Amino acid sequence: MTNVRIGHLNFDIYLIFGIGYWDFLFILGIIRNMKVAILGAGFAGLTAANELIKQGHEVHIFEKSEQSGGAAGGFKRPGWDWYVDYAYHHWFTSDHAILNLCKEIGFTKNMVLHPITATAYPIDAETINQDTNTEQLFEEFIGTNVRSYKLDSPIDLLKFDRISPVDRLRTGIMLALLKFGPALDTYHTTAAYTFLKQWMGTRSWEVLWEPLFKHKFDKYQKDINTMFFWARTKRTAALAYPEGGYQELANHFSGLLQQHGVKFHYKSEILELRKSSDTKPRFILKGSELLRFGTSMTFDAVVSTLPSPVLLKIEKDVLPEMYHKQLTKIQYLGAQTVIYETKKPVLPHTYWLSIALPQSPWMVAVQHTNFVHPRYFNNHHILYMATYTNKPLSENIWKKECPDILWQRSVFIPYAQPLYTTEYYKYMPQTTTPVPGLYIANMERTYPYDRGTNHAVRVGKQAAEAVEKNSAEERT
Ligand SMILES: Cc1cc2nc3c(=O)[nH]c(=O)nc-3n(C[C@H](O)[C@H](O)[C@H](O)COP(=O)(O)OP(=O)(O)OC[C@H]3O[C@@H](n4cnc5c(N)ncnc54)[C@H](O)[C@@H]3O)c2cc1C
Repeated sequence: MTNVRIGHLNFDIYLIFGIGYWDFLFILGIIRNMKVAILGAGFAGLTAANELIKQGHEVHIFEKSEQSGGAAGGFKRPGWDWYVDYAYHHWFTSDHAILNLCKEIGFTKNMVLHPITATAYPIDAETINQDTNTEQLFEEFIGTNVRSYKLDSPIDLLKFDRISPVDRLRTGIMLALLKFGPALDTYHTTAAYTFLKQWMGTRSWEVLWEPLFKHKFDKYQKDINTMFFWARTKRTAALAYPEGGYQELANHFSGLLQQHGVKFHYKSEILELRKSSDTKPRFILKGSELLRFGTSMTFDAVVSTLPSPVLLKIEKDVLPEMYHKQLTKIQYLGAQTVIYETKKPVLPHTYWLSIALPQSPWMVAVQHTNFVHPRYFNNHHILYMATYTNKPLSENIWKKECPDILWQRSVFIPYAQPLYTTEYYKYMPQTTTPVPGLYIANMERTYPYDRGTNHAVRVGKQAAEAVEKNSAEERT
């Protein structure tokens, strides 16, 4: 009975012996229990907790909000059976880390579909034809004189008549080379803007990519590196979604962790992280409502899933000056989404409509109920309008008066998108920091892949492995 690290089997043994299996080993001096604080109950924090509790550590999660799930969290309205995510979410079928985690924790209710994705372009009034969207609700949200181009497959690209046949061919070949080719070192330092213009053609950049980069990265659009683009070509067209919504999955996961001994502190925003004056590296946490145990708590190790700008605000003389400087270079954009519940769908068939309309404040319209059935939302339709920006959009941009709109809500997520610039590889934090006992498992660590719950699982595991490795080294 020395190595029982299969799922949560150790906890069954707990019941048999009446004392914790890990406590048992601890008493025998075989392992040393560490007291670990995890900052943030998003998927990175939950995954780190899952691994650390299996390793026998005492694990506390501190979460500012009242629920787990973080940026992938959601909410329900009266009459809805499923949660709606605060910001549109789906998985690609290649997101093995989170799909395997779902199996491990017994959440097997994931649906897989191949919904339609398209891009909306402006057209001249004279060229209106059968592909032009003239539905009233569509015009209300997206605009008039708009044509949607399905851009789901190589065939769609070959038919895309807004760029020349030569540019379509160049674009198709380059996309295939990137998708099936390795990551080259030069991708870290070459701007995607330069690379795409050079290899796919200026017109291809201007028509296909520039509108998307503009909304996703705002004024930083020309600074984003090619690695970011390379990683996106690996995505699949088939998408998956957890039945009940991401919040359902987060609730299931955090419930299981709680049963297995992880201590959750909700509504506990950490306001200060300090080092204790002990000879051993220990950390003192202070926070809002902290802490049912008093005003502060002490830990052997801390795993931070917080964005660097937040960590920099709360740390008090913990980080060495050089490292502090390094982290100040990390930049983010926020995400603005607005969720509309409507009587009819706004997009008749499309799930994901990228918006390449120069005057539009939006990057994308996501008709959630063309992916997830409207029956889970009282037979109403759910639409997200979204873009990336550093400050919330004003109400007169998003608030709509229209009899078909039943309800609307704006959500702003301040640290939603780390910016993978051509310098990013120099500043990206590693799992271990110069401070023994302090580990990073945040969105910045998913590079070169864009942040996502799949990669949050990956970086959460990496942090738990590092904690365990260091704790094993201490024991020997
Ligand atoms: C618009 C948008 C669309 C997205 N689409 C997808 C998608 O389709 N598929 C996908 O997989 N991913 C998607 N993502 C990304 C995904 O949501 C994130 O990558 C993932 O949820 C990050 O998990 P995390 O645990 O690293 O961080 P977070 O989920 O951000 O967790 C950090 C947690 O820390 C808490 N916190 C912050 N400050 C403090 C403090 N001082 N004290 C205590 N707690 C604190 C926060 O409340 C939060 O719960 C999307 C994100 C956005 C913004």
